[in-house]
Amino acid sequence: MTARILVVDDNPANVRLLEAKLSAEYFEVVTATSGATALESVRDTRPDIVLLDVMMPGIDGIEVCKRLKADPATHHIPIIMVTALDQLEDRVRGLDAGADDFLTKPINDVSLFCRIRSLVRLKMLSDELRARATSSEIMGLIPPAANMADVRPGKVLAIDGRASFLERVKTALAGKHEVATMLDPATALAHLGETSISYELIIVNLDEGQFDGLRLCSQLKSLERTRQVPILIVVTPDDQQRLLRALDMGINDYIVRPIDRLELLARVNTQVRRSRYSEQLRLNVQASLELAVTDSLTGLYNRRYMETHLTHLVEHSISRGKPLSVLAIDVDFFKPINDTYGHDVGDKVLQELASRMRDSVRNVDMVCRVGGEEFTVILPTTDIETAKKIAERVRASVSSKPFSIDMGSGSANVTVSIGVAGLAGPRDTLEDFLRRADQALYAAKRGGRNRVRLAAA
Ligand SMILES: [Mg+2]
Repeated sequence: MTARILVVDDNPANVRLLEAKLSAEYFEVVTATSGATALESVRDTRPDIVLLDVMMPGIDGIEVCKRLKADPATHHIPIIMVTALDQLEDRVRGLDAGADDFLTKPINDVSLFCRIRSLVRLKMLSDELRARATSSEIMGLIPPAANMADVRPGKVLAIDGRASFLERVKTALAGKHEVATMLDPATALAHLGETSISYELIIVNLDEGQFDGLRLCSQLKSLERTRQVPILIVVTPDDQQRLLRALDMGINDYIVRPIDRLELLARVNTQVRRSRYSEQLRLNVQASLELAVTDSLTGLYNRRYMETHLTHLVEHSISRGKPLSVLAIDVDFFKPINDTYGHDVGDKVLQELASRMRDSVRNVDMVCRVGGEEFTVILPTTDIETAKKIAERVRASVSSKPFSIDMGSGSANVTVSIGVAGLAGPRDTLEDFLRRADQALYAAKRGGRNRVRLAAA
């Protein structure tokens, strides 16, 4: 995971130290030693993350953070505030200014890399989402990405054996997130298996004598229902070994006891947002996959899908010795409809046709729109005689009743011609197969249209 990190600190020694640590882990580092140069550098270098010292002369870290978060061009860049351990007030101001996370000086390596990785992943998800959202918004088919300033409360599940600990988590997150609590892993796992709540974060206390928290984390990471849900663990400062094991396991973040309320809130905010980006991204990928295989006017499969799928089906049918048929369908006299009534009416005719065709084939059959007014129906494991009956049904469903589309002078009669072809044997090819269906279709056209013709085998 490579990312560009801007390190900002008025003390050059601190800058050099962080630069050395981050470079050693193959991050690209840019630096600034004042608030003013930091703002310039963000504009010029577009970092993925900003590590920002709070105490600086002139424009301090809080002010830099406020300005970056107020600018639509930079407000999505994660900011980690670097504060002195005893400056609790700075954290409050940092959170108010929109900081995404905190680190305290002196900076511990595990915590530095954990936070950076977590925020880099979040940034990459949001970048991907922004990129996709922009292109699909143009098509007007996918809702815009989740708002960066999403403030809906997150759904959090906290698991620990002590009610007092769970109460503290609830109090820390009160008003910001909805927290459910569970006292033991068995109850929690049973609950997760049956609940309709989509949790966006699970908090597990590793510092817990009553159950094995690491084991619970590994179970959560392997269950289908919870593997994508981020996990935040709570550890004691001296438990470095279990912390490293948990991070290896894919735990998303950790917090050290005693819990700082603001730190917990910042960590939870980040993980909840990340959860939402992932989910939105998953939905967008799904929607764009559907877009890639379907025709937007009719919702039928497109030519690309038809060709890919049919290539596979031809191979499969030949190797298993199964029949396979296709229908080549063309609308009769479609051009005059478009020319006379315009493309809007033409489009409505195509939509109505698509729906009649879909209703008259079987569930296993696939109706594809392969050209302007050309359709192909794929009929898996179907011999040519059965295919002919289905073709007749499609033809009749189109011609039997007029299309209820306003064309000025009432409704229209639309008909289709259909050519039927069956796979001819082990030496048949996709090209020959489709060509025979087309030839049968031309025969149907020549025979007077509104009819079905079988291809010669
Ligand atoms: Mg300073």
